[in-house]
Amino acid sequence: MYAFEYLKPASVQDAVAQLAAHPEGKFLSGGHTLIPAMKLRLAGPAALVDLNGLDELRGIRRESDTLVIGALSRHREVATSDVVRDAIPVLAEMVGTIGDPAVRHRGTIGGSIANNDPSADYAAAVMALAATVVTDRRRIEAEEYFQGLFTTALEEGEIVTAVEFPLPRRMGYAKFRNPASRYALCGVCVAETAGGEVRVAVIGAGANGVFRPAEFETALMSDFSAKALEGKTVDPSDMASDIHADQDYRAHLVGVMARRAVAAAR
Ligand SMILES: Cc1cc2nc3c(=O)[nH]c(=O)nc-3n(C[C@H](O)[C@H](O)[C@H](O)COP(=O)(O)OP(=O)(O)OC[C@H]3O[C@@H](n4cnc5c(N)ncnc54)[C@H](O)[C@@H]3O)c2cc1C
Repeated sequence: MYAFEYLKPASVQDAVAQLAAHPEGKFLSGGHTLIPAMKLRLAGPAALVDLNGLDELRGIRRESDTLVIGALSRHREVATSDVVRDAIPVLAEMVGTIGDPAVRHRGTIGGSIANNDPSADYAAAVMALAATVVTDRRRIEAEEYFQGLFTTALEEGEIVTAVEFPLPRRMGYAKFRNPASRYALCGVCVAETAGGEVRVAVIGAGANGVFRPAEFETALMSDFSAKALEGKTVDPSDMASDIHADQDYRAHLVGVMARRAVAAAR
């Protein structure tokens, strides 16, 4: 690990100012992506601006038909929250599949979506539920937020403060995980929004990160059943390929996980 300066801001505003004063710095939340990268010297921020003391970034609450999750909410808090379980139970279950207990006790929703790993589960829910990412300076719709592998609409020094999830009529999630890391080789989230729109979001499989297979959504709009997806597939050339799974296998998994997610939706 390279040497770095450690900074402890007193407020979100203070954190933004501290990072502006250290342009080679980074925000720190759960540290479960950033610290391993620093240990491996894949990242060498000159300063860490630690967001962990900021109560403004905490809290999980329901506001009418919206579930608001503060950016510093740990995966375990979300997975075990009665508010989340009551409002969007499948979201709580999804977050309960992230990593292992150590990861869930430290990792945060803000860190996860800021990092935008193509296999990170939250992106599937943010996209399928048409959630809004709230930052210290604006609100960003899901569609605009995710911009490719490890790339988001966040500007330099912009802090995710919360994510707002509109409550769906129903939602299902199916994940095929790498047994070692628990990251998704393919995860599919299916949701019917309060307005009746069907949205499908795929993580772990696409070569450019989270995506929505339009053909699946069209089929489910007229018949929300696993049967409606029979024979539906995605183009393997749009899929990722690595030592864990090739493009054809991932394309196959998208169909299988989508049918499972629909069958499990509630
Ligand atoms: C062994 C292992 C298994 C894992 N398995 C899974 C899995 O199955 N599914 C899954 O989804 N994830 C998985 N993860 C990732 C885990 O969820 C991480 O916690 C998450 O990706 C990053 O969140 P963090 O809070 O730890 O962020 P950090 O590591 O603190 O930060 C990550 C990045 O986001 C930036 N950042 C942090 N917070 C904010 C903020 N509020 N606003 C703006 N930028 C911010 C940081 O500057 C940094 O660039 C796994 C991780 C490990 C180590």
